[in-house]
Amino acid sequence: MSERLTSGARQDEDAGEASLRPQRLAEFTGQQRLRENLLVYIQAASARGEALDHVLLHGPPGLGKTTLAQIVAREMGVGFRATSGPVLQRAGDLAAILTNLQPRDVLFVDEIHRLQPVIEETLYPAMEDFQLDLIIGEGPAARTVRIDLPPFTLVGATTRSGLLSTPLRDRFGIPLRLNLYAPEELFGILQRGAVKLGFSLSEEGAREISTRSRGTPRIAGRLLRRVRDFAAVGGRVADRALVDMALDRLEVDAKGLDAMDRRYLRRIAEHHNGGPVGVETLAAALSESRDTLEDVIEPFLIQEGFVLRTPRGRMLGEPGWRHLGLTPPAGTTV
Ligand code: ADP
Repeated sequence: MSERLTSGARQDEDAGEASLRPQRLAEFTGQQRLRENLLVYIQAASARGEALDHVLLHGPPGLGKTTLAQIVAREMGVGFRATSGPVLQRAGDLAAILTNLQPRDVLFVDEIHRLQPVIEETLYPAMEDFQLDLIIGEGPAARTVRIDLPPFTLVGATTRSGLLSTPLRDRFGIPLRLNLYAPEELFGILQRGAVKLGFSLSEEGAREISTRSRGTPRIAGRLLRRVRDFAAVGGRVADRALVDMALDRLEVDAKGLDAMDRRYLRRIAEHHNGGPVGVETLAAALSESRDTLEDVIEPFLIQEGFVLRTPRGRMLGEPGWRHLGLTPPAGTTV
């Protein structure tokens, strides 16, 4: 995946984002309904002294899935272990993790839609009955041993719940969807972030970053750290003018779109007369994977009406044409 400033996907430079991570549910901004429901489930499970039911978090990258998984563990007062679908290659990898859990611990599995089928099958009895069936030995001497596991909570995260097999999806008692954040919510996150990072960001400056962050806290945090650099080097307060200058230098436009987003929109406008065009065709033309288009680039463009997803393919919406400074052909859907 290409390293884009305005991609919600995690990148190397985001190692610095740990300092901005909210630690408790009360500090977690936005996703109000999800937060309220989760709090009820946590309180009820805690009161019963039980492990929380398994939780499936789904939504685009950078919206707080990992953060929420850590918060669940902290609010429950239990341990936290993290792994990811592509990392778990053999059933033994999973067994090693599961057998080391303490009762009620949280096991976070990122990118859970990328689990190997054999791992998925090992997970079913583990999630349902807290039992692990291990095959010891090979050939005719092979035998199965059943190991009891402590009750635990699996928190799975995925950018696409549609890619999860039905048996796996059905084993999550608490499916939760994260939505893109409103600028107002990002504004609050940015103001608190500036305090944590120890620099002075004006209200108008924060507002400007919030509308250019594609509804994504990870992007807001990334832009915030870059703005801090520009402010430090210029020896200035991060006011509206400085934020504008910094984001323009970073080629993030007024709506938060970067060069890749604009290439995507222009491709549909100029090569396909506004569409419809299939996502595979677009991916090939832009040298991006289909997953990147669907998970990272499109959610915000679709939410803002720049792009429309139709059964026949992607189409440019009226705001998309306007953003490119082009006139939509007669009959374009708004
Ligand atoms: P995901 O796992 O969905 O890709 P993360 O949980 O890693 O996203 O969050 C990415 C960054 O955004 C983290 O630095 C985190 O601090 C920040 N973040 C996410 N959600 C929130 C929120 N609701 N409030 C404040 N910061 C948030």
